[in-house]
Amino acid sequence: MSRRRQIYEGKAKVLFEGPEPGTLVQHFKDDASAFNNQKRGTITGKGVLNNRISEFLMLRLAEIGIPTHLVRRLNMREQLVREVEIIPIQVFVRNMAAGSMSKRLGIPEGTVLPRSIIEYYYKKDELGDPMVSEEHITAFGWASTRELDEIVQIALRVNDFLSGLFLGVNIRLVDFKLEFGRLYADEDVRIVIADEISPDNCRLWDVRTKEKMDKDRFREDLGRVEEGYQEVARRLGILPDGGPGDFKAPKTMQ
Ligand code: C5P
Repeated sequence: MSRRRQIYEGKAKVLFEGPEPGTLVQHFKDDASAFNNQKRGTITGKGVLNNRISEFLMLRLAEIGIPTHLVRRLNMREQLVREVEIIPIQVFVRNMAAGSMSKRLGIPEGTVLPRSIIEYYYKKDELGDPMVSEEHITAFGWASTRELDEIVQIALRVNDFLSGLFLGVNIRLVDFKLEFGRLYADEDVRIVIADEISPDNCRLWDVRTKEKMDKDRFREDLGRVEEGYQEVARRLGILPDGGPGDFKAPKTMQ
């Protein structure tokens, strides 16, 4: 058992106090939830895979100058991240219609959108994370106009970069969610990507077969959920040497 102080426990992750001030340890669980917590389950090995996939994607983003909270991966299920002040907005970027957009607007799943569409949702569990507009965000002070401009710029760059990266391994990036935080350094405040980027918060389809390789397998009871996540990791070239079996390691190693 861990003796570290727990800061926060979410549906799929736990945050612990980090080893030095201004850092946190982000622990990835196998727990999964959907539809505002109405559906719950466990996806064996998901935490290990998401830890790896999110690390991989955030490192690639850092290489092209997009700041994230990631410092480094610590072990199978944990990464060291910078402590940020979370902006209470989920930013969704959509390239094809799917999920709530298809349902709300009656646009068939898989329709290619005329351009990438950004949506904002207010992070508030009690309210079921309602969709909000830029007006709400700036009027209620959740982010300033300048911050929002930067968030949109980052989100679109991430979309372009990750769409290309995934296409290179025959995966279509249908949509995804990003979270952002303010990183205070000296006199400076920077907007950085926080949380994770993984099949839990991206829709990823095989380009050829359109097979889903993300959390929709869990949401829609499609079966072979772990295999979807594993296939994403395999195509990105980040499965451990021993193959998927290595992901079944029993507990976090310190
Ligand atoms: O369900 P919806 O179509 O609105 O989801 C859009 C994208 O945002 C999907 O990739 C989904 O995985 C992600 N999402 C998320 N967290 C939520 C809701 C959706 O990561 N609470």
